Amino acid sequence: MEDQTWKTSRAWRELDLDALRHNARLLEEKLGADCRLMAVVKADAYGHGAVPVARALAEQGVTAFAVACLAEGAALRRAGVEGTILVLGYTPPEEGAELVRWRLHQAVADEAHAAALSALGLSLPVHLALDTGMHRLGIPWEDREAVRRVCRLPGLRLEGTFSHLCAADSPAAEDRAFTRGQLERFYSTVAWMEAAGISPGAIHIQASYGILQLPPQPCAYGRAGIALYGVASTPPRAEEWRDLRPVLSLRARVAALRTLEAGEGAGYGLAFRCGRTTRLAVVTVGYGDGLFRTLSQNGGQVLLRGRRCPMVGRMCMDQLLVDVTDLPEAAVGDVATLIGSDGGAELSAEEVAARCGTITNELLTRLAGRLPVLETGQKVNSQWS
Ligand SMILES: *Cc1c(COP(=O)(O)O)cnc(C)c1O
Repeated sequence: MEDQTWKTSRAWRELDLDALRHNARLLEEKLGADCRLMAVVKADAYGHGAVPVARALAEQGVTAFAVACLAEGAALRRAGVEGTILVLGYTPPEEGAELVRWRLHQAVADEAHAAALSALGLSLPVHLALDTGMHRLGIPWEDREAVRRVCRLPGLRLEGTFSHLCAADSPAAEDRAFTRGQLERFYSTVAWMEAAGISPGAIHIQASYGILQLPPQPCAYGRAGIALYGVASTPPRAEEWRDLRPVLSLRARVAALRTLEAGEGAGYGLAFRCGRTTRLAVVTVGYGDGLFRTLSQNGGQVLLRGRRCPMVGRMCMDQLLVDVTDLPEAAVGDVATLIGSDGGAELSAEEVAARCGTITNELLTRLAGRLPVLETGQKVNSQWS
C-alpha cells in the first residue's frame, strides 16, 4: 500500500468508514423494507471525499448515489463506482452526450430543460423533478398538462419522479403542516401519473430530515446526505440523530511553540495581545483548508492531548495560533484536533458550525480541496518534527 505517512505531516481529514457504514445501515432501517438508500455524495461527499465514501458504501451494498453535477458523476464513474448515479442539479443540454457517456441519470429541472434534452435525440434516463412548494427546481406539481407533455417527449426515459422537502428539519407546527402538504401534493401527482398511464419510475422525496423525522414512506429511495455523515445540520441533535456516528475528523500539527511576554502581540494586525506570559502553539491548518477565518476570534478551540485550548488572533491561510499556556506538555509534532475526538474530549461539527454562524453542511463541504483524506486506523506518523 502507498506510504501514507506524509499525508499526516500537516493537516488532514480522517474518515471513520465503520461509522459511515453504521449510519448507512441505520438509515436503511429507518427507510423501511421496500425503500433503499440513495447516498448523496455531492460536493465531494460534503467534504469527506466522494470516492472513498462511495466505494465504502458500494462495498456494503449501496447501489444508488446522487451528485450535484455532471463532473461529480463522471469522477465517480472514473473511480469505478457502479450503480445508479443521479445528477440532482441542472446540466446544460449541450452536455447531454456526456451524461450518456458516463451512464448518469439526470434530473429534469423544468419543461424547457426537458424539451432541450429531448431535442438532442439521445436516449437519456431522467428523473422528473416536481415542485411541491420549495420553488427551486421542478415542474409545478399542479401543472398536469406540463407533466404529461414532458413525459411524452421522445429521447427521455423516465426512470424516476421526485420532489424535495424544504422545511422537514423544523419542529414548528406550521412547518410540519407544510411538509404534510408537500407529501400530499407529491403522492397525488404520482397517483395521477399512474392513472394516466405514465409510469413514474422510482419515486423519492425524503432527504436526511425527512428520513429521520417521518414514518417510512411508500418510496423507492430516500436521499440521505448530512445524516450519512453522522451529524445534524444544526444543534441540538434531536433524539432520532443520537445513534448516528460522526464520520469526519479534522486534524493538524503543532509546528512551533513560542513564549510571549505580557503585553506582546501575535499574528496579523497583532490582533492577539497577551495579558500574561503566554505560550503559543502554531497549528498547521488555516482558512486555505476551508476553515472559517472568523472562527479564531469567535471562541474557536482545538483539542491537544485531550484538552480544549483556545485559538487566538487572526487565523492565517495555512496556520493558526493557539494559547497553550495551561498545557505545558504541548510539544512540536503534537496532533491537534479541529473537529472530532481526542482522548475523552470532543469538538463536534455541530459545535464548530454554530461558532461559525452556519450549518454543518457548509462547515464540512468547505473542507473539500487541499486536505488529504485518510481512513481511521491508517498509520499516522508520530515521529514528525
Ligand atoms: C442535497 C440534497 C439532498 C440531501 O440533503 P441532506 O439534508 O443533506 O440529506 C437530497 N435531495 C436533494 C434534491 C438535495 O439537493
